[in-house]
Amino acid sequence: METLSIFALQPNENAMNILITGGAGFIGSHLAEQLLKENHQVVAMDDLSTGAISNIDHLLLHPNFDHVIGSILDESTLAEHIDRCDVVFHLAAAVGVKLIVEAPVRTIETNVRGTEVVLQHASKKRKLVIITSTSEVYGKRTTVPFTEASDLLLGCPHQHRWAYACSKALDEFLALAYWKEQQLPVIVVRLFNTVGPRQTGRYGMVIPNFVQQALTGEPITVFGNGAQTRSFADVTDVVRALIGLLGEPKAVGDIFNIGNPEEISVMRLAKQVKRATGSMSDIVTVPYDQVYEAGFEDMPRRVPDITKIHNLTGWSPTLTLRDILDRV
Ligand code: UDP
Repeated sequence: METLSIFALQPNENAMNILITGGAGFIGSHLAEQLLKENHQVVAMDDLSTGAISNIDHLLLHPNFDHVIGSILDESTLAEHIDRCDVVFHLAAAVGVKLIVEAPVRTIETNVRGTEVVLQHASKKRKLVIITSTSEVYGKRTTVPFTEASDLLLGCPHQHRWAYACSKALDEFLALAYWKEQQLPVIVVRLFNTVGPRQTGRYGMVIPNFVQQALTGEPITVFGNGAQTRSFADVTDVVRALIGLLGEPKAVGDIFNIGNPEEISVMRLAKQVKRATGSMSDIVTVPYDQVYEAGFEDMPRRVPDITKIHNLTGWSPTLTLRDILDRV
C-alpha cells in the first residue's frame, strides 16, 4: 500500500524543510514522496506547465506536505518559501526535446531566468541549492562515458535543440559562480534519461511513447535510424542519488552525473519494448525532420560515468533497464 506507507512517519533527527521547485513534475513528485518518507517537511512549488496535480494527489493530505501553484518567476512567493526552507531542490525547467524545439524562447527564459532568481534569493539567506542540470550539456560528444570534467560539444544556435543544453550549462556556470563569489552552497547534478511511473509521453520521452504505442498496437516510432544510444535510470534510483548528496559537505561547489551506465540503442530499445509487451506493433523509422525540425541534430550517444558520485556517497543504480520496463 504505497499511499499508506508514506504517511508512516519515521523519526529523523536530521529532518529539514525542503522546497522543491517543479515539485509536481515527474521527478519532483517522486523526490517529494521519498523526502516525506524520510520525515522531512516538503513544499512543492510548480506552475503546472509540464507538471500536474495528479502527480502529487496522493501527497496532498500528508501533514508534512504543502504545495504552491505558481511560477518561480513570481519572486515574492519564491522568496517567502526560500526564507522558510533549509534546502532548495531546483527542478523547475522547460523539459522535453519536442517542447524545446517548438518553444525555444520559453525554454531559454524559464531555464535561465528561473535559476537566476532561485540563486539570487537563496543567496540572501545562504540556503543550500541543488541545481538539476542535464546530460544534454555533453552535446554531440561520442566518446563515452561522459565524465563531469569533459568538454561540452554543443551545436550551432540555428538548431533550437541546443538552446536547452546551453541554457542549462549557463545555469551551471551561474551556480558555481555564486559558490565562488558569495560562498552560496550549491550542488550541480546532471541527470541522464530518467524513467518511471507517472512519466508522460506527452513531451516526446521515448520509453513512455514506445510502451504506449506497443500496448495500443500502433507503430513504434523510432526517430532517425535508431542507432543513437541512451542510458536509462529508474526514478527511484535517481531520487536516492539526489538525497544522498544532501548529507555530503564535500559535494558543495561540485558537479555530479546521475544516471545508469547501461547503454542501449533506440532501435534495440524498440525491439525490447515490443518483446516485453508481446505487442504486434510494427517498428517504423521516422526521419528527424518530420518529428522535430529541418536539420535536427540528435545526441549520438549518452552514457554517464558515475565514479564521482559513487566514490563520494556510495551510490549506484540498482534497477536495470529490464526492471524499468517492467515497472513502466
Ligand atoms: N525517440 C524515438 N521515438 C520516440 C521518442 C524519442 O526514437 O517516440 C528517440 C529520440 O529521438 C532520442 C531518444 O529516443 O534519440 C531519446 O529521446 P527522449 O526525448 O526520451 O530524450 P532525449 O535523450 O532526447 O533527451
